[in-house]
Formats: sequence, C-alpha cells, structure tokens
Amino acid sequence: MNFNGKVAVVTGGTKGIGLATVKLLDKSGAKVYACARNRIEFDSRNIVFHHLDVTSIDSCKELFNDIISIENRIDVLVANAGITTDALTVNTSEEDFDRVINTNLKGIYNIVKCMASHMENNGKGSIVTIGSIVGEYGNTGQVSYAASKAGIVGMTKTWAKEFARKGAQVRVNCVSPGYTKTDMIKTVPESLINKFKDLTMLKRLAEPEEIANVIAFLSSDDASYITGAVIPVDGGMRL
Ligand code: NDP
Repeated sequence: MNFNGKVAVVTGGTKGIGLATVKLLDKSGAKVYACARNRIEFDSRNIVFHHLDVTSIDSCKELFNDIISIENRIDVLVANAGITTDALTVNTSEEDFDRVINTNLKGIYNIVKCMASHMENNGKGSIVTIGSIVGEYGNTGQVSYAASKAGIVGMTKTWAKEFARKGAQVRVNCVSPGYTKTDMIKTVPESLINKFKDLTMLKRLAEPEEIANVIAFLSSDDASYITGAVIPVDGGMRL
C-alpha cells in the first residue's frame, strides 16, 4: 500500500485500533492526523495530534478547517472513534444510551458531513467507518452499542451511493471487527472473553494491527473498486 503524498485523518487515533491504523498509514507514507479528546505524543514527524470531540459538530468543523488550511487536501478519513457502556436494556440510563449514540453514530455523521463535500469536489477519496459484529448479531447488555453499530452500516451504504452521485471516485466502506485486544474490552470478565474466543473459528481475539491492516487496505488505491462494502474481520466469529 502506498500513501505517499496523501493526507489521512483517523478519529480515535490515539488508542487501540485507531492508533494501530495511524502507525500503519504513517509507515505506508501518509501524513496522518490522529484525533481524539486526550493528547498523546507521537515519534513520527508525519503524525500530528489534533484535538477532536466527534460529538461536537463545531469541533469537527475546526479540525477540517485546520487541516485544509495547512494541507489543502484530505484523501482518507477513518471514522473510528467509539465508546461503549454496557448494561441490560432495563438498566441502561437514558444518559448512557444517548452518550453512546452521540459518539458512535452521530459522531461519524458529524465528521463525515464535514469532510465529504471536500472529497466529492476533489473527485476522489476514501472513507472507512468502523462497525462491529455486535451491530450484526446484537449482544446481551449492549443495546446502545448494537444500535449505533447497525446504524453505521446503513449510513455507510447510503454514503457510498450519495458521494458517488456526481461521478466522484469517493469510496465508503465499513470494517466490522470482532473482539480485539484494546482498552475497550479491558473490563470484560475473563470467563466471557474465553467464551468469545471459543465462538471464533481461530479461537483467539484479534490484535489491533489485524484490524488496521484491513482499514488501511480499504483506505488505499489498492481497493479502488470496493465501495459500499461491510468487511468482517472477526476470526470467523458467530455470536
Ligand atoms: P479504544 O477505547 O481503545 O479507543 C477509542 C478511541 O476513541 C480513543 O482514541 C479515544 O480517545 C477516542 N474517542 C472516544 N470518544 C471520542 C470522542 N467523543 N471524540 C473523539 N475521539 C473519541 O477503542 P478500540 O480501539 O477498541 O475501538 C475503536 C473502534 O473499534 C470503536 O469504534 C469500537 O466500537 C470498534 N470496535 C472495537 C472492538 C473491540 O473489541 N475493541 C470490536 C468491534 C469494534 P479519547 O478518549 O482521548 O477521546
């Protein structure tokens, strides 16, 4: 994969799957904007941290304007930022439900809305959204998360149609990971983790880099005829 001369934006690019993606895009030649609420430092000169809260449209606009004023282009958007608050539906507070939806679903809508017109006008670009197998199968105790991730699939397919309307080569795809070794699953009890491993064909969790490999591929010109796709990266898991 060759990203020489390209500018990529990764939301939630400071931890887990997003961080692995940032590192891979950097290694493959891109200038990468790693965005999140809490700053971290990067070793590479081609990785720039930028503050972002995806729940705020103003924060998304500020990010877009800053990058365009410096780079005058955005080639790749990886809409990865996400959270979960797990509880059975009857115990889920309205506040927690809204927080997950506002981050995972509206957050992706906010960031894509800010960047898509630029890509359409450029006639080219790649957007990768991050779903989850939970969006496809549902999961006990994850009602807001499942709803947000199922919604991402619908938005992805809609955008693949909308952004190509004027003949622009703007591709929009979704990567749907299985359980991956990141902070997000740190609080999941070991017994449940073992059950999840057992439900995969490969009998293990994913490394963040294994998800990043697919995100980077879909972001690259090597995937130039793939759009509107939802790609599972789940070790063959069936919930
Ligand atoms: P992590 O918790 O490791 O990282 C989440 C990242 O998102 C952090 O960089 C965090 O930074 C950022 N983030 C959270 N809220 C916001 C916000 N409001 N605005 C901007 N950035 C934000 O998660 P993972 O790497 O595990 O998850 C990445 C994506 O992959 C998520 O969409 C998740 O749902 C999905 N996924 C993960 C799976 C897993 O098993 N780990 C399985 C399937 C899908 P900060 O808090 O500083 O803002």
